[in-house]
Formats: sequence, structure tokens, C-alpha cells
Amino acid sequence: MKKLFIGLVILLVGCKGNSQEKPISEETVYSVQKTDTQWRKELSDLQYFVLRKAGTEPAGSSELLDNKKKGVYVCAACGTELFISEHKYDSGSGWPSFDREIKGNVGFDVDYKIGYKRTEEHCAVCGGHLGHVFNDGPRESTGQRHCINGAALKFIPSEK
Ligand code: FE
Repeated sequence: MKKLFIGLVILLVGCKGNSQEKPISEETVYSVQKTDTQWRKELSDLQYFVLRKAGTEPAGSSELLDNKKKGVYVCAACGTELFISEHKYDSGSGWPSFDREIKGNVGFDVDYKIGYKRTEEHCAVCGGHLGHVFNDGPRESTGQRHCINGAALKFIPSEK
């Protein structure tokens, strides 16, 4: 019985020694951090659903979809500049689309929410979900299609 016990201990310790448990990804610390209650207060229901719950607005619903004015698109939650009008194009998807982001202000992640791998994108400052990036964008420029929820954005027109 004693031998069996020692054997078990060796087996357990051995297993533990072999398994390398590392966290999958380190938790990102965003410079703008608010409690869920604060976000709920500050954002509209749709903004909260998209930005904080990684939801998707109905296709064709955003008033920014056909916006062709010159200006900058900022995060609706924290005001960080995310996209500029020069990089906006009509993808026909029903969501505001850009061929590139403002580098450094957008963070990327991987999600499998609808069963296959997609590149998720979010505001690098507050972590608010914006949309996804696909590789079927305009070939003459970057080939990227940043498919963005209009509810996650605010448009600031350029001054004339
Ligand atoms: Fe933000």
C-alpha cells in the first residue's frame, strides 16, 4: 500500500512537472478604464452593446455609412482618433468601411464568435470593440476591409 502511495506521488509530481501552464494572453491594461456602470451611464444602449459587449449593429443602420465628408472618425467612448475620411470607402457591406486604421490607435485580437477565425479590432486606448478586419478590401490600396460599427464611432468634420 505504501509503495502504491509513493508511486502515485511520483506520478502526480511527474505530471505537474511536464505541464507548462502559461496564460494564453496577458490581460491588456487600457489607459482609459471605467467600470461597467460608468460605461452604461455614458454610452447609448447601442454604443454600449457594440463597444462594451462586442455586439454588431444592424447592417445599413449607421448614419455614418454614406458619410463622405472630410474629417476624422474617433472612438465614441473615449475620443481617440481611429480612422480618417480619406481611407473610407463603400464596401457594399452595410457597415462603414476603411482600407486602413490610424496606426497605433487600434488594437487587434482574434475571435471565433461565429465559428471561424476573424480578426477583431478595438480602440487601443479604452478597449472598446469596433468591428473586424478582412482581406477582401480594395486591391489598389491595402487590400484590407476594416468593417466598423458606426455606433462605435463619432465623426469630427475637418474645419474649412
Ligand atoms: Fe476608445
